[in-house]
Amino acid sequence: MKIDIKSMNISEIKEYLKNINEPLFRANQIFKWLHKPVNSFSEMTNIPKDLRKKLEEDCIIYNVIPEKRLVSKIDGTVKYLFRLADGEFIETVFMKYKHGHTVCISTQVGCRMGCSFCASGILGLARNLTASEMLSQIEFAGQDNKVRISNVVMMGMGEPLDNFEGLGIGLRHISLSTSGVVPKIYELAKLNLPITLSVSLHAPNNQIRNNIMKVNKSWPIEELIKACQHYQSITKRRISFEYALIGGVNDSLDCAKELVLRLKGIMSHVNLIPANPVKENNFVKSNDSTVKRFADYINANGITATVRRTLGADINASCGQLRRNNSIKEVT
Ligand code: SAH
Ligand code: SF4
Repeated sequence: MKIDIKSMNISEIKEYLKNINEPLFRANQIFKWLHKPVNSFSEMTNIPKDLRKKLEEDCIIYNVIPEKRLVSKIDGTVKYLFRLADGEFIETVFMKYKHGHTVCISTQVGCRMGCSFCASGILGLARNLTASEMLSQIEFAGQDNKVRISNVVMMGMGEPLDNFEGLGIGLRHISLSTSGVVPKIYELAKLNLPITLSVSLHAPNNQIRNNIMKVNKSWPIEELIKACQHYQSITKRRISFEYALIGGVNDSLDCAKELVLRLKGIMSHVNLIPANPVKENNFVKSNDSTVKRFADYINANGITATVRRTLGADINASCGQLRRNNSIKEVT
């Protein structure tokens, strides 16, 4: 097994250098190279040849390799299809918002949670991503667009809390979206990181939620809400609830009423997303007037709800749902 050196911080690299009897000041140099667009040790020109050779033998740089790049003609959103060292593929999205540049990263190849409306889980889980592969998505998007990335959201392929170990220390100013892996929400609360938690609720009760999210059978909605309350009591942060409106499934006025009761006492924000139709299922998105009725009811009852601005609509930029579309402009 080679060492995943890009997942290491400077002191871990020093530890490694100590073990191979190399001077510790090289750690800073190596670290700098690792976070530049460099894919091999041979490119690290200020490192002596012998050490480069040793690094090559011991270590591997897990960078993402661009395979496709789709640019939205509407708003400049960029969607990447990346290849990984072992030939797997993942998706990453770069978005421009007024408040900064955001990257939406994948945390796994596939997903084992199996939500019925989602394209990422159709083939199950292949594997977790390494911390370096997650970092590499952020760095690549920043370098490719020549900007500093100010926000990272873990809303791409995969369930981040099913890859708890890989989340990595470097990823702090982020939003993390979970389908509701309750024990890991408690673990995350313990770390008390400045992370914004998004919870994919998508239903106000167990009956509907069981039907569309099998994770609810392991951890029903009451337990999930309790975990959210706990997370909030520790971190004092507002929780975002994601709610994809699926026509005739979870978009009635009764659902809106139940949702308001369910979220009572939690400092929350509801993100309403008209569901993206996925080829493999029969779901349809709620129509505009139903979305408006739902949002208006929630807003009128003391919880802020926004209907998510869909970016990159022409490139199916919603993470995990890349679908072919005729208006795609293919650059590479
Ligand atoms: N696994 C995590 C994060 C990745 S999914 C989670 O489930 O939260 C990111 C968001 O996209 C989640 O809120 C998810 O429920 C939502 N999503 C997945 N498929 C969707 C679809 N077809 N339409 C709208 N939102 C969808
Ligand atoms: Fe996995 Fe999230 Fe998709 Fe559910 S919605 S299958 S948890 S990626």
